[in-house]
Amino acid sequence: MDVTTGTIKKNIENIFGEIKVACDRVGRKPQEVKLVAVSKMFPVEIVQSAYETGQRVFGENKVQELTGKMPLLPQDIKWHLIGTLQKNKVKYVVGKVALIHSVDSASLLSEISRQAVKKGVVVPVLLQVNVAGEGTKHGFDTEEILREIKDFSCIRGIKIKGLMTMAPIADDPEKVRYVFRELKSLSERIRDLALPGIEMDELSMGMSDDFKIAVEEGATIVRIGSRVFGARNY
Ligand SMILES: *Cc1c(COP(=O)(O)O)cnc(C)c1O
Repeated sequence: MDVTTGTIKKNIENIFGEIKVACDRVGRKPQEVKLVAVSKMFPVEIVQSAYETGQRVFGENKVQELTGKMPLLPQDIKWHLIGTLQKNKVKYVVGKVALIHSVDSASLLSEISRQAVKKGVVVPVLLQVNVAGEGTKHGFDTEEILREIKDFSCIRGIKIKGLMTMAPIADDPEKVRYVFRELKSLSERIRDLALPGIEMDELSMGMSDDFKIAVEEGATIVRIGSRVFGARNY
């Protein structure tokens, strides 16, 4: 095992150690939490090192970087798109990624559906929610999603697996706990509607600085970059 692989392995073990502590605190099972290693801006050699630790799920936030890396890395990697997706790029990711976290509009959902039907695939997606209402962030707002969710039931070629959010940057992650709590509560409200084709099993929330809080509040997927790979200074 080379130095980089060893370091990444240790980083991932530490993350799972902290996930376990957070789960114990609130009576959850650590196996309920999956790690997406966010490899954006890291070269393929580093991603390969992370692969060698056994990590199989990687996240990228740009379509071009994602589709550039994909053919250079092992085929059994599950790629997640976690960043903003423009409609004209949907065709490059449909059928290729295991999960799109960042569906932020009804029209994007329609385009994913159109491409999925064309390719004969079903695309698992999360709806991105801008819980904190930040102008700089994408996503549905809470009221909007509750209004529109019925129309998202049974869209062909789409399986809605849950919700995703990005918390605002905060000096103390306790300050964004309410964001994670609200996303969880929104997912429960949607689940109570029991709409066909809409599962609310996944909550993608928590990054390097706030994942412990997110796990305490019910995250099933954490998206972690710098705590896995180190600082993004490439
Ligand atoms: C970059 C990124 C992350 C990971 O950020 P870190 O702070 O490096 O853990 C998570 N989610 C999204 C959407 C990102 O763009």
